Amino acid sequence: MVGLAIALGLSACAPAAPTPTPDARPTVTGIPAPSQSPTATPTPSPEPTFDRGARSIDDPASLWVVANKLRPLQPADYAPADLRAADIPYVYEPVLRADAAAAAEQLVAAAAAEGIALAAQSTYRSYASQQRVYAGWVAQLGQEAADLTSARPGHSEHQTGLSIDFSAVPANCTLDQCFAQTPQGQWLAANAWRYGFHLRYPEGATPVTGYEFEPWHYRYVGPELAAELHETGIRTLEEFFELPPAPDYAG
Ligand SMILES: [Zn+2]
Repeated sequence: MVGLAIALGLSACAPAAPTPTPDARPTVTGIPAPSQSPTATPTPSPEPTFDRGARSIDDPASLWVVANKLRPLQPADYAPADLRAADIPYVYEPVLRADAAAAAEQLVAAAAAEGIALAAQSTYRSYASQQRVYAGWVAQLGQEAADLTSARPGHSEHQTGLSIDFSAVPANCTLDQCFAQTPQGQWLAANAWRYGFHLRYPEGATPVTGYEFEPWHYRYVGPELAAELHETGIRTLEEFFELPPAPDYAG
């Protein structure tokens, strides 16, 4: 209820109200704001340069970890230490790392306040459950098609406890690309960044991410990086961190 109250407050005064945590952006001290500067010549923006090295992209416990077909989680059977149930509507019980769970609760409450009903379809998957999921896809589609849709165990973002597949309530285009055209898919595309979530597998980025467009799959990266991705328009973590494209597994 607290999350709902906060979300209602935000949406009542400013739908563009930014990040759910107050300490999301670094406070810059000692640099005058440009509008207050009396100098005649235009001064360059004092906007701090985003530090792309501020967090590890290799540590599986880092909010910025980049897992893809060329970057397995290390160790492969990594399990987060701070998983908890997220208090949001669900199809399968949602379990996320603590920060991601709190952000998901705020996001879902904010969406609900605007008449957009979301549920968690799929969240944390352990190495063992990813083994089962991937094997199921291979049995159904064959390995080549399965690899476009499901990660091999040890390579899945869902294993980080930072990813969530959203679905609509009532169900509509669940885990289907037509989800992008639903009110839920459109709301997420416009607003998820405000809560620290990033559309991890955007349309047309398969040669970079290795996965087809997944308008339902959002990855928690924290409000600071989510805002930077939004502002720069850089669509994938691979491009943002200048990593090689990962269209396929190495071996
Ligand atoms: Zn997913």
